[in-house]
Amino acid sequence: MAPPVVMALAGNPNSGKTSLFNALTGAHQHVGNYPGVTVEKKQGRAFCEDRRVEVIDLPGAYSLTAYSLEERVARDFLINERPQVVVDVVDAANLERNLYLAVQFMELGVPVVIALNMIDVAEHRGLKIDVAKLSARLGVPVAPTVARSSQGMEDLLRAVVAEADLNRPWKPKRISYGRDLDNALERMVGLIEADGWAGEKYPARWLALKVLEGDSQIRDLLAEERPELASRLFDLAAEVEKHLAKTLDETPEGLIADYRYGFIASVTKEAVGHKLEKRLHTSDKIDRVLLNRLAGPVFLLLVLYLVYQVTFSVSAPPVAWLEAFFGWLGGVVESGLPDGPVKSLLVSGIIDGVGGVLGFVPLIAIMFFAIAILEDSGYMARIAFIMDRVLRVFGLHGSSVLSLIVSGGIAGGCAVPGVLSARTLRDPKERLATIMVAPMMNCGAKLPVYAMLIAAFFARYEALMFFLLTLIAWLMALIASWVLRHSVLKGQSTPFVMELPPYRPPTLKGLLIHTWERTWAYIKKAGTVILAISILMWAMMSFPGLPAERQAAFQARLAGADRAGAARIEAERAQAQLANSWAGRAGRALTSLTRPLGFDWRVNVALVGGFAAKEVVLSTLATAHSVGQAERDQEASLSSRLIREPGWNPLTAFTLIIFVMIYAPCLVTLAVIRKEAGLGWAGFALAHNTLFAYVLALLVHQAGLGLGLGG
Ligand code: GDP
Ligand code: MG
Repeated sequence: MAPPVVMALAGNPNSGKTSLFNALTGAHQHVGNYPGVTVEKKQGRAFCEDRRVEVIDLPGAYSLTAYSLEERVARDFLINERPQVVVDVVDAANLERNLYLAVQFMELGVPVVIALNMIDVAEHRGLKIDVAKLSARLGVPVAPTVARSSQGMEDLLRAVVAEADLNRPWKPKRISYGRDLDNALERMVGLIEADGWAGEKYPARWLALKVLEGDSQIRDLLAEERPELASRLFDLAAEVEKHLAKTLDETPEGLIADYRYGFIASVTKEAVGHKLEKRLHTSDKIDRVLLNRLAGPVFLLLVLYLVYQVTFSVSAPPVAWLEAFFGWLGGVVESGLPDGPVKSLLVSGIIDGVGGVLGFVPLIAIMFFAIAILEDSGYMARIAFIMDRVLRVFGLHGSSVLSLIVSGGIAGGCAVPGVLSARTLRDPKERLATIMVAPMMNCGAKLPVYAMLIAAFFARYEALMFFLLTLIAWLMALIASWVLRHSVLKGQSTPFVMELPPYRPPTLKGLLIHTWERTWAYIKKAGTVILAISILMWAMMSFPGLPAERQAAFQARLAGADRAGAARIEAERAQAQLANSWAGRAGRALTSLTRPLGFDWRVNVALVGGFAAKEVVLSTLATAHSVGQAERDQEASLSSRLIREPGWNPLTAFTLIIFVMIYAPCLVTLAVIRKEAGLGWAGFALAHNTLFAYVLALLVHQAGLGLGLGG
């Protein structure tokens, strides 16, 4: 039996890579991470007749230059793992732009097969692509596909297996970059080959190109491993750079891109014909309205409001069921176990704490579904486009929009990929400003905290409140970045060109997969990290117990009390115990600081826990109000407990929401900021955001009191 074939799947974002991966591998897939980075690694298995094909999904990338983490991961995988074939998914409707990546694979020399995807769209737009000619001009096999409806999979797999079986060594394609660059390249190749270091791993001309393009990863590698060779190569590169600047007013990088596109244009000129009557395609017509300077933003706000409205009305019943379920479960455990720390841990620490977070799974899932619709339809890119105009005024870059949206700009993202995605920003100051404000967005961990407080104090205005919170988060991020860009991060802003993928009706399968992936991540986090922190917080709230003489005093009072009196004394004892615990002491120590914000010491405890992860604010509040209770009353969700609690009112809740929104990024985010920008900036983010949150919450609370809202 012939050995299995190993192929890697690559392509620009939105080319249909995920659809093709799913169509090829069906149910045979599993997901992990690339070693050492938080970039998802999907693997699956396909069959060509009975030959096995292992499919590895590379992260989406526009180029093979190490501008972004994704691009670097994709490149390192190719160079180190050497898959037999790379299938490059190319959007036939945007052929030129997509072929840019294909050309880079060819230059690297790895065997390529092109999946010419979305030919249905291309045809609809009146593009006539001569597949045979395209393949001949490029010198690689091309297989037309419609990934969304699984067309062309057999032919594609046959081409892949045939290419793999040729078993040819890597054959870097040589593109001419004009006399100046070609000359320099030749000299550099000579030096590299004489040194012999790169060997088979890196094609010499490719290395030379990377040095000319200013690829920092390759430059650093060279400087570290071969300092002498590196300095000679860098000198040569600097020389050409100066020469080009003088003669053509161009950078090597820009010129290299020009020649690559020139190569592509010459290929497509021959292989692609246009029918002229369909020049203005549907997407352009839609964009005339949706990207209109006036109608665009109005439509965007309407869409957001609709998303929140639908999310809350659809998720209300299942959220209520889950809440009732956890209430019931707590009751069963409560009556089934003897009093003691085990019961308290189970009921107050785990069921009330983690259950409080898990109870919002339906809301999270529906929110993710709505967001998947925005993404898969192509509208998310328009949101970025509209926001770009606003952001520029505040000193952020167009690419920052994407980081902010990934971090939860619409709701329910995560600042970790948000901070990482800021790597696409090449201006260090714009990048740092983005990293500082991305954690202020309403990430998935903050949602359940908001949802609980809103359910308690703003029950009739849920969608409106979420809508407002989205606007507030953006406004605060913009204010903060404006201040940063006019103080510590002062500098010019760099221009930005936004690519707008065409609109497409999303498929149900795609939506469900996207929703499930994210919802599952939320559930997993609640069941692991949040569970562990909840147990820790419970312990901090349960120990040490009351000193013996105070216990005895309560015991004595209980002995003489009637039933109603006993319940009151029990409640008092529970409160006294909680106040005396380690967490209670810490919370009380902070009260002078947080009293002007209207927070009591139990909120302080929750906020301290929230430094670890924002969900912990919710689980800790739940545990604190559960530990501090003598008799469990069955119905009482945390929301309904808080309403009855003295000191809690809509103003307190709103102040708390604002504080949670802005204050310190969670631990994981801080760790990523440290890795991305250094310890100093992580410390800055911690201090700056917490201070900003404090000032804001103070303003909100005092203004609210002034308006007589504290009642
Ligand atoms: P990725 O970003 O590269 O992973 O692309 P996806 O697989 O998520 O596809 C983006 C969108 O294009 C989805 O809405 C798909 O349903 C759609 N799509 C993918 N392949 C095709 C195709 O061949 N034809 C058409 N019309 N749409 C496609
Ligand atoms: Mg995808």
